[in-house]
Amino acid sequence: MRSIVMKVPFIDLKAQYEIIKFDIDRAISDVLSGATFVGGHHLHDFEKQFAASYGVKHCIGLGNGTDAIFITLKVLGIGPGDEVITAANSYIAASAAISLAGAKAVFADIDPEYYTIDVEDIKRKINARTKAILPVHLYGQAAPIDQLQELARKHNLFVLEDCAQAHFTEENGVKVGTSSNASTFSFYPTKNLGAYGDAGCVLINDDELAEKIRKYANQGALKKHQHDIEGVNSRLDTFQAAILGVKLKYIHHWTETRINHAAQYDKLLQASEKVEIPKVRENTKHTYHLYVIRCKVGVDRDHLRSYLADNDVITEVHYPLALPNMGAYDYMHHSPNDFPVSSDLQNRILSLPMYAELTDEQIQHVCELILKY
Ligand SMILES: *Cc1c(COP(=O)(O)O)cnc(C)c1O
Repeated sequence: MRSIVMKVPFIDLKAQYEIIKFDIDRAISDVLSGATFVGGHHLHDFEKQFAASYGVKHCIGLGNGTDAIFITLKVLGIGPGDEVITAANSYIAASAAISLAGAKAVFADIDPEYYTIDVEDIKRKINARTKAILPVHLYGQAAPIDQLQELARKHNLFVLEDCAQAHFTEENGVKVGTSSNASTFSFYPTKNLGAYGDAGCVLINDDELAEKIRKYANQGALKKHQHDIEGVNSRLDTFQAAILGVKLKYIHHWTETRINHAAQYDKLLQASEKVEIPKVRENTKHTYHLYVIRCKVGVDRDHLRSYLADNDVITEVHYPLALPNMGAYDYMHHSPNDFPVSSDLQNRILSLPMYAELTDEQIQHVCELILKY
């Protein structure tokens, strides 16, 4: 008999903080004693280091990952009358940013094996108003960037990659987010590289667009009181930059640990008659922002989820409703049948606990419970 009840939270940010506490506390106190709370060297250092870690010319730190998408669309000149195609199963940030820029979000269904945007459905949705494709590297899995870029070249479209869930994910040995017009990142606390509050950035090679993004995010000014345009206030906070600078040193170790955890889950769960393990697209490096299993037909996902919760194992669903099925998009008058894959998967997917500090015993415990279910 198990004498101690093993609790497995979905994520444990406190466990991570305990490990890096010394460096984090020092970075925070350094910002405090320097008293530069907007801009300053912590921000510039992090931008430089993050750009260098990707081999991209510019990193522009921004307030959050949603603003990163919105501002990039603005500087690309995408607005009223334009359409941007994005994935039906994702977080609402991309489609909301497209709308906020004044353009129309057009949803494409997702691939039934890999859960990233379905290239064939994009082809059906491209028309004269289409200006950009906005793929999401969902859960840390690379969307098929090579195919998307080929399609974009053929139709003269921008590709803007949402890398919020895909820090250091790779396709064919190339990091996703490095080969398109621009890519956007979120450093929301639970992301693979997470701040202790909201934060985000854009990675971009084009000098002129980089400057435009920086200007737009800083009230339209690159120099104090020289407002060439109206913009927004969306800067990466200096405390958050200092924290991210510390965490950047650990990210590769954490990523490898996540990959090892996923391999352990895979091994233990592959024999399950109730659930299927996630598939990884060939020649890619999945960074497992989320480890998402799929219930086989006839298995009640919500029942499995509450059984796990009753046993102190916390799971989540990403996402319980595909975007076109959400209230925010009622005005589009879609039916779930318009997005058959996303609409089916929303009832079958389940995100298991995944974070670097998870122990082998915890993973084993989660898997034993699922196999017993
Ligand atoms: C988290 C997330 C975002 C938005 O990031 P914020 O920093 O919360 O604005 C965008 N897209 C995806 C897929 C995300 O998971």
